[in-house]
Amino acid sequence: MATEQLYLRSIESGYYTDFHATVTSVEDGKVGLNRTLFYPLGGGQNWDTGSLVGPNGSLTVNEVRGRGTILHSVGENHQLEIGDEVKGSIDWERRHAHMRMHTAQHLVSGVVYEAFNGARTVGNQIHDDRSRIDFNPISLTEEMLEQIAFETNLLIDADHKVTDSTMTRTEVNAEMPPERTNMDLLPASISQLRVVKIGDNLDLCPCAGTHVQRLAEIGHIQIIGKKSKGKGTQRITYELEIPQIIPNPKKEIL
Ligand SMILES: [Zn+2]
Repeated sequence: MATEQLYLRSIESGYYTDFHATVTSVEDGKVGLNRTLFYPLGGGQNWDTGSLVGPNGSLTVNEVRGRGTILHSVGENHQLEIGDEVKGSIDWERRHAHMRMHTAQHLVSGVVYEAFNGARTVGNQIHDDRSRIDFNPISLTEEMLEQIAFETNLLIDADHKVTDSTMTRTEVNAEMPPERTNMDLLPASISQLRVVKIGDNLDLCPCAGTHVQRLAEIGHIQIIGKKSKGKGTQRITYELEIPQIIPNPKKEIL
C-alpha cells in the first residue's frame, strides 16, 4: 500500500512535525504507514529522524527509505502490528536544515548554470550539516567559487518566496531550458510534475524534496571545498550560516 507523503502537499506542509497514521506493514524492524511526514532518502536528500508512539510506547525512527510504501526503521523489538494507530513526530531541527540546504542547492545550481556556460548539476547530497553538488562540465577556480557564493547570497538576501505547483512537461520546458532543470533526464512516463519555483521564475525545478518558504530562512552559504570527480565533473561542498529568520514548526498536520 502506497504511503501518503504529507510533506509533499505544499511547501507549507514541510513545516509540520506531528501526524497520526495507521500501520500498514511490518517487516523485521521496518514499519510501513498509510501516511507520513517522514521524508525518505531520495533525490539526494537525507531522511528525517524522529519518533513513533504506538500502543507499547515510543520508538526512535533511525532511518526512512522507500518509494510507494515508505518504511520507518525502528529496531527489531517494536511490537507494532498492522492496524495499530501511531503518532509520528519528526526532528524539526534536522528537517529545517534539510529544507534550507535543499533550497540553497536549487539556488547554487541555477547560479552555476547561468554564470558558467550552462554547467549542469549531475548529482547532489543534502545533509543537515553540509551538502555537496556535482557539476559538469566545469573547472572551478577560487574566483568562481567566490562568485557562486556571492550571487547565491544576494538571492538569499532578496528573500524571494518559494512556491510549488503541478505542471506538465511542456509547461516546464516553456519556462526553463531542459538542461537547467534536468527535465531531459526524467522518464517520459512522468507527465505531471511537482515543480518548485523561486521568486517570479528566478528558478523552477521539478522536485519532490522539502524546501523553505522564504529564502531568508536559508542563511548565507559558505563554500568550504571543491574536488575533482573526473571527466570534467567537479564537486563543491557548502555549509550554511545562521539565517535571518528561524520559523517555529507547525505541530500536527491533519
Ligand atoms: Zn528541491
